[in-house]
Amino acid sequence: MGEEEEEPKLKPCKVCGQPSPEMICRACKEKIQAELLEKKREDEKRGRPPT
Ligand SMILES: [Zn+2]
Repeated sequence: MGEEEEEPKLKPCKVCGQPSPEMICRACKEKIQAELLEKKREDEKRGRPPT
């Protein structure tokens, strides 16, 4: 024994409840980002000017 990694404090992810160093775990973050991206694309499809 010897290698001790500094563990960030884990809190439950706000979305899935899994322990995560952040409020939202990486998996959920990626999912949310993907959804946002899709939404943005749909808006563009509808002819909204990009902000
Ligand atoms: Zn999560």
